[in-house]
Amino acid sequence: MKCQICGNKNLESVLDLGHQPIVQAYLTKKQLHEPEVTYPLHLCRCAKCGLLQLDSIIAPELVFPKNYPYRTGLTNMLIRNFRELAGSLETKYNLSKNDLIIDIGSNDGTLLQSFKEKGMRVLGVEPTDAAKAANKNGISTIQEYFTKSTAKKILKKYGKAKIVTATNTFAHIPNPVELTKNIKSALAPDGVFVSESQYLMDIVEKFEFDTIYHEHLRFYSLKPLIKLFALAGMSLIDAERISSSGGSIRIFAKPGRHKMSAGARNLMAAEERAGLYNKAKLHKFAQKAIIAKNNLLKLLIELKQKGAKIAGITSSARSNTLLGFTKIDSQILDYSVEKAGSPKIGLFTPGTHIPVLEEDKLFKDQPDYALVLSWHIGEELMKILRKNGYKGKFIMPLPKARIYGK
Ligand SMILES: [Zn+2]
Repeated sequence: MKCQICGNKNLESVLDLGHQPIVQAYLTKKQLHEPEVTYPLHLCRCAKCGLLQLDSIIAPELVFPKNYPYRTGLTNMLIRNFRELAGSLETKYNLSKNDLIIDIGSNDGTLLQSFKEKGMRVLGVEPTDAAKAANKNGISTIQEYFTKSTAKKILKKYGKAKIVTATNTFAHIPNPVELTKNIKSALAPDGVFVSESQYLMDIVEKFEFDTIYHEHLRFYSLKPLIKLFALAGMSLIDAERISSSGGSIRIFAKPGRHKMSAGARNLMAAEERAGLYNKAKLHKFAQKAIIAKNNLLKLLIELKQKGAKIAGITSSARSNTLLGFTKIDSQILDYSVEKAGSPKIGLFTPGTHIPVLEEDKLFKDQPDYALVLSWHIGEELMKILRKNGYKGKFIMPLPKARIYGK
């Protein structure tokens, strides 16, 4: 395995999360009696360019199958974020009607919708069936991966784009240098590439190691991104922190050679201070993750030995990393609950085989403890569940396992 950006073959291990199944590969009852495939989930670091990345890449068709269930338009926080993004790009780059905007990994077209309402021409590229939903809603979308031939086809039919966006997909696609070259080929000479990705700084600061799963191939910070754009004949010109998806970075890049903004330079200095390029500090982060995991498992086992009934709250992608890494299985969590309508209800969590039930069960059953798996929005969740009638105690799993309630 080599660095996905600079090709360096000597990757250093940062945190080994064990072999884990794909986080969206929920099982039916029948499948519990069949073999289950797992893949290494191992966070590594390139000492040369500073990129943090997974050391094994699963075929995208397996991680993002056609029936991939996620829809952007169901997340209010993202809808708001995308409206704001479209508005700010319109002003910042003086976009006019008929300018072409391309979104890579456009899902159901939520971001493009905002540009379309402003009168611009929009085009989505999306490999999963979310493309069908987008087309139905009037957002032209090509159901394909964004490859060299897709980029060529787009160029021929639509011309060059003023803006290319990739939100929560730029770290998900293998071969980033090739990807970035393809993006450059789709851009007008004065065009801009804008991307939002989960930010390594937030993962480290907020201790969100549970956001490491196979969908995320790279965990970005600025230094390796600067290198990436340079290798593709582009320049990173600006960067800012945004709050979406538990803390993300929004970056701007242009074809050719350009200066980086003072804001981006300051952010890079903050990254240095936070230890994002420091082997010893990253090792410390990994050690803390292992301690937190062991303490959580210890607490749950002690409660279980006293005869407690424990249920999980929500069943998200990241919660499957936490459960799998910590080895919390169906003998510790009786079940996990999802809001009515979730496609996961009636299935079992990948790897840990915990039944996923409708939220109602929590209020009827009143288990002694509820483990707040989406702990990054834990305060909000606890308030809602208390209001809706859950009387037991809550357990926050991270950053430090803690019991809430009397
Ligand atoms: Zn590298």
